[in-house]
Amino acid sequence: MAVNTGGEKEVIHQPFEYFAPKTINEALKLLNKYREDAKILAGGQSLVPMMNLGIVSPKYVIDINNIGKLSEIRENKNQITIAPLVRHYEIAESKIIKRAIPMLSEAASHIGDMHIRHRGTIGGAICHADPAADYAPVLAALDAKLEIQSVKRRRIVSARNFFKDAFTTELKPNELLKAIHIQKVGQRTGTAYQKLEFVSGGYAVVGVAALVALDGEGLIEKLVVSVGGVERRPITIVFNGDVLGRKIENATIEEICGAVKDKISEPLSDIHADGEYRRSMAAVYTKRAVLKAANRALGGE
Ligand SMILES: Cc1cc2nc3c(=O)[nH]c(=O)nc-3n(C[C@H](O)[C@H](O)[C@H](O)COP(=O)(O)OP(=O)(O)OC[C@H]3O[C@@H](n4cnc5c(N)ncnc54)[C@H](O)[C@@H]3O)c2cc1C
Repeated sequence: MAVNTGGEKEVIHQPFEYFAPKTINEALKLLNKYREDAKILAGGQSLVPMMNLGIVSPKYVIDINNIGKLSEIRENKNQITIAPLVRHYEIAESKIIKRAIPMLSEAASHIGDMHIRHRGTIGGAICHADPAADYAPVLAALDAKLEIQSVKRRRIVSARNFFKDAFTTELKPNELLKAIHIQKVGQRTGTAYQKLEFVSGGYAVVGVAALVALDGEGLIEKLVVSVGGVERRPITIVFNGDVLGRKIENATIEEICGAVKDKISEPLSDIHADGEYRRSMAAVYTKRAVLKAANRALGGE
């Protein structure tokens, strides 16, 4: 179907051709044919505003909303698989996700407003790769595996390597994000996401995801912190010997927060906050996220 949206009073500047494939294969063939000239349409919450503003002008829009297989949440013994069209509100409310990975539900429940959460999708949010978006640090902390498909090839990329720069990912023009695979966290392991937002449901000025595993004596066995909103891509720290084997107490927390601050070398400055403020807040929100995750590891809320 050709949609001519030109004309002075129209919002979208360029005409484009619209496709609504019913299968993944059909979508992949279209992507393979049109490549840089095509854009996938998921929830449209970022793509459509960008088309309205003339920031992107795809000649072909491939709407994947009719592909039922792309809307499922599946669980097996060790892993949860989330398809890219799962909406933010479904992630916020899913019993499976709340139980197994509470910080993912936590992050989803703070995205935008009710309308954005009902239209926007996890796949769209990840592929859009806004540095201030919420899922990226959470998925990086969890070391989620992103399944990427083209006509000829399927590959798996860790969320820690997927985000290359602001609004830039590992995806090639003929590739589709097909699934997000997340290992369930083990026993005595807690996760938490803490976000600084200036308006309720606003983008993250700072968003910190923490994963803490404690041993039988309450000593740190594993600690991962990932910070979003502060640099052009999430900063992820997998803590090693210095912190492992220690108690969660003030001195340890200070050290963890110090390490996070040290890792931030090029903080973003914009109309919302300057770089130094973001760096300081990254430490404050790291403390909150680590304490909450540790509490969950001990069975608390
Ligand atoms: C007012 C407002 C407030 C917001 N607040 C927040 C917030 O607080 N936190 C937050 O994280 N986000 C926020 N967002 C962004 C929101 O999460 C969007 O839903 C998200 O960025 C895009 O998801 P979408 O499903 O709408 O994708 P779309 O807009 O349809 O697509 C976005 C991009 O991803 C590509 N794409 C989509 N799906 C795939 C796929 N499966 N494979 C390959 N490429 C794909 C598209 O081609 C496009 O380039 C906000 C948006 C708005 C408008």
